Amino acid sequence: MNDAIAKQNLLDLDREGLERFFADTLGEKRFRAHQIMKWIHHRHVTDFNEMTDLGKALRAKLEAHAEVRVPQIQFEKPSTDGTHKWLLGMDGKNAIEAVFIPDKGRGTLCVSSQVGCALNCQFCSTATQGFNRNLSTAEIIGQVWVAAKHLGNVPHRQRKLTNVVMMGMGEPLMNFDNVVRAMSIMRDDLGYGLANKRVTLSTAGMVPMIDKLAELSDVSLAVSLHAPNDELRSELVPLNKKYPIAELMAACERYARRKPRESITFEYTLMKGVNDQPVHARQLARLMRQFDNAMQMKDAAKVNLIPFNPFPGTRFERSAEADIRAFQKSLLDAHVLTMVRRTRGDDIDAACGQLKGQVVDRTRRQAEFRKQLAAQTGQGDGAVDAAA
Ligand code: SF4
Repeated sequence: MNDAIAKQNLLDLDREGLERFFADTLGEKRFRAHQIMKWIHHRHVTDFNEMTDLGKALRAKLEAHAEVRVPQIQFEKPSTDGTHKWLLGMDGKNAIEAVFIPDKGRGTLCVSSQVGCALNCQFCSTATQGFNRNLSTAEIIGQVWVAAKHLGNVPHRQRKLTNVVMMGMGEPLMNFDNVVRAMSIMRDDLGYGLANKRVTLSTAGMVPMIDKLAELSDVSLAVSLHAPNDELRSELVPLNKKYPIAELMAACERYARRKPRESITFEYTLMKGVNDQPVHARQLARLMRQFDNAMQMKDAAKVNLIPFNPFPGTRFERSAEADIRAFQKSLLDAHVLTMVRRTRGDDIDAACGQLKGQVVDRTRRQAEFRKQLAAQTGQGDGAVDAAA
């Protein structure tokens, strides 16, 4: 067998997987896995020979059976406002984007979960790229590794990377296992040591997967809502045809019940004349109030308004500033906690919904992906086609 293929990329393993690899494959004590995790995630070292507290024999064994393969930086660009974007090569052909956004005492990294996306939200730049494949755990956590190294981040001491949002390219819940494993490394003290509430997964509304996530993880949940009624949402987010708003809100309730006192964020991209009218604000306020009432908690639902960031070829426009303010006021008047997300990094196309990467071979893979989606959700191809 070819050595390069046989080597295990250690970035693909969380603490449990790494302990198993040390015990079963290397015949070593499990605690050795902890030393390696610190070298990789705290000190950003990938060469086993530089891991000086490991004996020579173990280093040789690691050399023979394992590697630490991180994404290749193809291009990086700092923005004038401190935002930093990376184009990361994943396999010689495809590339994805990750973006770091510093802001008053915190630093947030926006991480991608797939090469492209199959969900085809109408206002999303990633959607225009089609879909190629899911990212591996190594490729997801590798984005955090690249940013942490660049920032000189040291967990527990010099923490510059304080939050991760799974809001980059792709629908994270369609790449469930790899995303959950990567998020476990983000939250592990031997990984990046982030608190559960500082890791946020954003979904377009994969209802069964929200329930599955609730069983396995305590991360914060954000939902890309973008419309307050089914007719409009089905147009903007086609997945809504499969999982309409009532089902989505019920899944959010089930998720929130497992995490008392934590709110769920509802993302709402404001597009001129499309979803930014007073009637939409009233409908959205009603929906959010219903959620608060169901949870018997004030501010159980939090709204993030995102002024649309135009990209070449889109038919949508950003709402006027006065309409954005009026929309927010209408929600605040209805006692719905509502923020407007300040646009960051738009001089480097790193703003929300603008991530594009480089997706090759996307048409063939999309058909394959639809089949996977059908299998995952237990429904035939037809239902999925309606959604995708
Ligand atoms: S908004 Fe998110 S789920 Fe929708 S197409 Fe874009 S990346 Fe995919």
